[in-house]
Amino acid sequence: MTKQLLGKEVSASIRAELKTEIDTFTGRKPGLAVILVGENPASKVYVGMKKKTCADLGIESFEHILSQDATEDELVALLNGLNADDAVDGILLQLPLPSHMDEDKMLNTISPEKDVDGFHPQNVGKLLQGQRTFKSCTPYGVMEILKFYDIDPAGKHVVILGRSNIVGKPLAAMMVQKESGANATVTICHSRTQNLESITKQADILVAAIGIPEYVTASMVKEGAVVVDVGINRVDAPETEKGSKLVGDVAYDEVSSVASAITPVPGGVGPMTIAMLMKNTVTAFKEHQAPLDSI
Ligand code: NAD
Repeated sequence: MTKQLLGKEVSASIRAELKTEIDTFTGRKPGLAVILVGENPASKVYVGMKKKTCADLGIESFEHILSQDATEDELVALLNGLNADDAVDGILLQLPLPSHMDEDKMLNTISPEKDVDGFHPQNVGKLLQGQRTFKSCTPYGVMEILKFYDIDPAGKHVVILGRSNIVGKPLAAMMVQKESGANATVTICHSRTQNLESITKQADILVAAIGIPEYVTASMVKEGAVVVDVGINRVDAPETEKGSKLVGDVAYDEVSSVASAITPVPGGVGPMTIAMLMKNTVTAFKEHQAPLDSI
């Protein structure tokens, strides 16, 4: 029987641990500033979910909404204010930003000490070097799912489809580290990779993060492989009440018949991202309160 790797359960367990820990904090609670620029409907939903999770765990959230035509100078001023604000431990700038803004420049304005998304180049560099830092939340969530289900990547061939800065590249950096829960042999594939199937078939652990609905089919997967589907794609589904549904980058039904374990969509990697954001925020809070090495 193929095992389902249920991120929603892993995430619930991480959130419960965090809540227990936060309840022990006397005085100020951890604080997360969440910034939304513009009217992107999906971004509004994500920001709402982050605020709700903060409230559930006892993290204070500070919402800042800028209009679609806000200038880069306005956003930089807001970020600098939050960098200096002692009630704020973490800053989350919801992406995507409106097209007139330079995303890298805005993200780089966030203080690395408050960069709970793990996107600042200083933190990405530390991650690559195996130094302690904020890990970007979605790949961090993938690592935690594997840990929860006792799937050790050590010595395994991990093939990652996708080389984005938020999933593929940081996940490769995490998997390759010389540390417990990692130690994998890593291959990254992308849109220019040739003979993709011959590479994916070598994977002991196959991770799909490409954004193409049900792209990974059974013929691309080795018998007994672990398959992690990061993709979240909304597709037409006239048979449903909503007329659409969410699917991953993996053709779940057919790949399930080949894989030994697989994450579903929804309920797999998706719920992990917010849980890891909360974990990073609590880490930021503790570092803010105490000298680095005492944590
Ligand atoms: P992206 O669009 O930034 O990158 C896609 C990557 O896929 C690129 O590096 C590209 O080279 C690669 N690619 C495209 N076609 C390919 C092919 N045929 N073979 C191999 N590689 C190919 O995407 P992203 O931001 O990394 O997101 C990927 C998917 O993960 C999306 O479905 C997104 O919605 C989802 N996602 C989910 C979460 C979550 O919380 N679970 C978070 C981030 C992204």
